[in-house]
Amino acid sequence: MHRARKRFGQNFLTDESIVRRIADRYHGTAQTIVEIGPGKGALTSALVDTARRIIALELDRDLIPLLNRQFGGQLPKQHSFELHQADALQFDWSTLSAEAPLHVVGNLPYNVATPLIFKLLDNLKMISDMQFMLQWEVVSRLCAEPGSKHYGQLSVVVQNLCVPTALFDVPPSAFDPPPKVTSGVVLLVPRPEPVVAADQQAAFTHLVKCAFAQRRKTLRNNLKELLSAEQISACGIDPGHRAETLSLTQFKSLTDVFSAT
Ligand code: SAM
Repeated sequence: MHRARKRFGQNFLTDESIVRRIADRYHGTAQTIVEIGPGKGALTSALVDTARRIIALELDRDLIPLLNRQFGGQLPKQHSFELHQADALQFDWSTLSAEAPLHVVGNLPYNVATPLIFKLLDNLKMISDMQFMLQWEVVSRLCAEPGSKHYGQLSVVVQNLCVPTALFDVPPSAFDPPPKVTSGVVLLVPRPEPVVAADQQAAFTHLVKCAFAQRRKTLRNNLKELLSAEQISACGIDPGHRAETLSLTQFKSLTDVFSAT
């Protein structure tokens, strides 16, 4: 019998209705789904009926035999299950480019969620959508709009590349063992083109990071190494405002000036 391991962020989904809500999104449409952290297969068992090909990445080697026993054999005709014992953060995602477009899905361990999303942002060309169960607070940050207390670097950088939608929240009682906080499911759909052009990404990311470096400080202060107050004003933005009030388009305007200097 497998005991849930805290260090792998193992909170296994036990609520069948939540499993269905996640899997139903793919009904009849998905060719290839990459599942991150299949665990004991709660989601996988719904996904194998839906997609022709499941590629699963699981870090815990003790779960590998269990998953292979459960899904390695009798699948519907022409459906396949491919399991990698791998850390999704270290995994070479480019090896999956031939399988594109990929639907990426996972009930993600909380410590892995944000770095993994950043890693996937570097591989968006092969991804058609990403559906993740995360801490509700992270879902709020991904989907936050200017002016909200959750709006920050994560919101701006992700929203530049993807359109996020908070789908539903999930109580601790849906898991075994129950986590301490409420979770939520978010859908991230890559934009056909990012708002900020690809060759300005590095400048944009740096500018956004500096702008939010000290949340309570003004743009004039946080950006003083990058732009003068006059340059900020010339974009139609009050340098006395804080980063949390700026829209993505306003961050783009600042990036245009910063990259031109
Ligand atoms: N999908 C299962 C479910 O919903 O019941 C398990 C979810 S559990 C929250 C997270 C799973 O991710 C665990 O099986 C854990 O071992 C696995 N995991 C943790 N870190 C990982 C990583 N870096 N790469 C791949 N899998 C990981």
